[in-house]
Amino acid sequence: MPKILILGGTTEARKLAARLAERKGLDITLSLAGRTESPVAQGVPVRSGGFGGAEGLARYLTDEEIDLVIDATHPYAARISANAAEASRLSGVAALALRRPAWEAVEGDRWTMVEHAGEAVAALGSARRKVFLALGRQEIAGFEAAPQHGYLIRSVDPVEPPLAVPDATYILARGPFSEEDDRALLVAHGIDAIVAKNSGGQATYGKIAAARELGIDVLLFRRPVLPELPSGTSVAEVLALVDHALAPAEKRGV
Ligand code: NAP
Repeated sequence: MPKILILGGTTEARKLAARLAERKGLDITLSLAGRTESPVAQGVPVRSGGFGGAEGLARYLTDEEIDLVIDATHPYAARISANAAEASRLSGVAALALRRPAWEAVEGDRWTMVEHAGEAVAALGSARRKVFLALGRQEIAGFEAAPQHGYLIRSVDPVEPPLAVPDATYILARGPFSEEDDRALLVAHGIDAIVAKNSGGQATYGKIAAARELGIDVLLFRRPVLPELPSGTSVAEVLALVDHALAPAEKRGV
């Protein structure tokens, strides 16, 4: 029975796993980094935690006799994506990727692209602003360098320790977030700037659309460069690639 390892942590990874699990005769395991305290149910067997770099992942692929590894991680999870490509090379196990397309600016968007929190802090300027940080726990610490701003911070798990700034409000929530709800949130908190990742997809686009409508500045972290792998941009596209990757060699024209 072909064994597939899906590197996940995204909605697409969960959907892909569910679609593959519907097919008889495939052994699916989904891998999570283990960062979220109570991850949503994934519906397939899950393993959790790092592998120990590319070599560790290569060893896992070999030991577990995996036939195909699919990188369906978040677009900003660049290390595990690099590790997946390198582990595939080291182990000879085939690899595919699901690469979610980035959002593109449209008329009315007030976007500034930044490399990291330091650049975002510089772009916000010295005058006090009300800033919505739609970022992971790891990325928000850099905003302690700008304690003059008021911050609204939305995260899945509590930010521990809290940001060392005098004005920070925390919201615990898990997407998807609708445009309507995000518009109401931005207005209620008097937000005039958003700092976010260009995650792509619909689940977190609400704030981007609402910001456009409200004329709010959006500072977007540039996407990291990910390794080249045979990839699709949707669950459906990757499912088609899986068929090809698992087809007998003669059918693939090898
Ligand atoms: P990362 O920097 O690419 O990964 C760091 C290490 O975590 C990897 O080297 C690996 O450890 C382990 N790891 C990551 N994903 C794994 C998986 N699916 N299964 C097993 N181990 C995994 O990724 P990250 O630290 O998770 O996150 C980096 C960025 O992505 C952040 O900006 C974060 O906010 C964002 N992100 C967002 C979401 C989301 O919104 N759904 C989900 C994940 C990440 P070893 O080297 O030991 O194998």
